[in-house]
Amino acid sequence: MSSFYEGREVWFLTGSQDLYGEDTLRQVAEQSQEVVRLLNDSGLMPAPLVWKPVLKDSDSIRRAMLDASSQDNVLGVIAWMHTFSPAKMWIRGMEVLSKPILHLATQAGVEIPWDTIDMDFMNLNQAAHGDREYAYILTRLGVARTTVVGHASNPAVSAKVADWVRACGGWAATHEMRVVRFGDNMRNVAVTEGDKTEAERRLGVSVNTWGVNDLVAAMETVDEASVDALVQEYEERYDVAPELRVQGDRHDSLRYAARQEAAMRAFLEERGAWAFTTNFEDLGGLRQLPGLAVQRLMEDGYGFGAEGDWKTAVLVRAAKVMGEGLAGGASLMEDYTYNLVEGQEMILGAHMLEVCPSLTARRPRVEIHPLGIGDREDPVRMVFTADARPGIVVSLADMRDRFRLTANVVEVIDAPHDMPRLPVARAMWRPAPDLYTSVEAWLTAGGAHHTAMSTQVGARVWEMFARIAQMEILVIDESTTQRAFEDQVHWNQAYYRLAEGL
Ligand code: MN
Repeated sequence: MSSFYEGREVWFLTGSQDLYGEDTLRQVAEQSQEVVRLLNDSGLMPAPLVWKPVLKDSDSIRRAMLDASSQDNVLGVIAWMHTFSPAKMWIRGMEVLSKPILHLATQAGVEIPWDTIDMDFMNLNQAAHGDREYAYILTRLGVARTTVVGHASNPAVSAKVADWVRACGGWAATHEMRVVRFGDNMRNVAVTEGDKTEAERRLGVSVNTWGVNDLVAAMETVDEASVDALVQEYEERYDVAPELRVQGDRHDSLRYAARQEAAMRAFLEERGAWAFTTNFEDLGGLRQLPGLAVQRLMEDGYGFGAEGDWKTAVLVRAAKVMGEGLAGGASLMEDYTYNLVEGQEMILGAHMLEVCPSLTARRPRVEIHPLGIGDREDPVRMVFTADARPGIVVSLADMRDRFRLTANVVEVIDAPHDMPRLPVARAMWRPAPDLYTSVEAWLTAGGAHHTAMSTQVGARVWEMFARIAQMEILVIDESTTQRAFEDQVHWNQAYYRLAEGL
């Protein structure tokens, strides 16, 4: 996967005013550069923070915000009020800023210099009230932002800032995202439907449909050398079943899967698309439901949703960008079956074929088996079990007047038993706070059966993403109780209608 963050940056803006004189402003500049250095040196930032000259008046603030908004490679803006920056100066700037903003409430020093502190020191180090003045105007203007408090050398602070940069990555990704739908939604399914026009307004994502036979036509243009190269790559990277190998009886099926992969990849690249959907009910002239091809594309960073589920495709792509470079992976997931044995409650998740191998560091097997639905030839697929790691599952549902994200913090675990007759990729997890509360809350929220599973980023990144998008998010985690969750759902219903206005 090529790096999404290459060439991108976050601007660090420092607020002050002209009142203090040149000597003080020079120290403000030096100390804010030191904050930027400490955060960058944490090694956690997926994209660098770039220091900008100290802002001292309304015109330069507005200009900085216009510049940040106009540059595609700027993911977001961090603001810190080093000294006192009268906040009416920030109004015009905040109103033209169209990028995500993080308010970092910090200061240059960690400890009060007890023996030497005097009024000069106090005048230089007054972020404690400078940041309050700034936050007042942000709140008054209704600016959606993330607030982080603490010294830049504190690992908890740099971790929060880095999570926010990742959330900005997700936000930029949806705004650059084109989704190719091969066919429409599975017939009669409710939750995979949704308002694609509103999604473009809310998330910047462009979602459009092509006839699946356009893909069939693209497959006919794939040359044998490309198929040979992919087959060779499969044999190198995966344990390919003997019947599928070059001399095997069913090698032709593997070649067909490789042809699907090459055609789909070229089709998406030609349209600049980083996410796509398929639908087993709508396969046109395809001989197999794409399984291996979909898994391979997800592994390379593409978002995917099955049965026409473009909303989950968007989430999977956003999850991959937000988690780039971290251990773990991201995939389409579907809650399938419960284990309800007392004390061993867990969820088995899978899909017909399409789970991304980024969820395991082990070597997947490539196999071929019949598929009970779809009425086509047996599809080739990777089979593996997701690695045990902390994770999260997230769904996006259209609630008529808005989109709702529902997220459940989970612990992906090793399956307690082999499942030798289950020929699909799968994950086994324990949902927080426990299976019963988790599922009761999920059903109360109307969360979808399809999710994006990430074992790279957690609830905090998704909450920051939702805040940037000004989108509802309901998180089910260790602190969830059914009573409070139901109240939250009811209150949100009122809040989001009021916040939307008329
Ligand atoms: Mn499904």
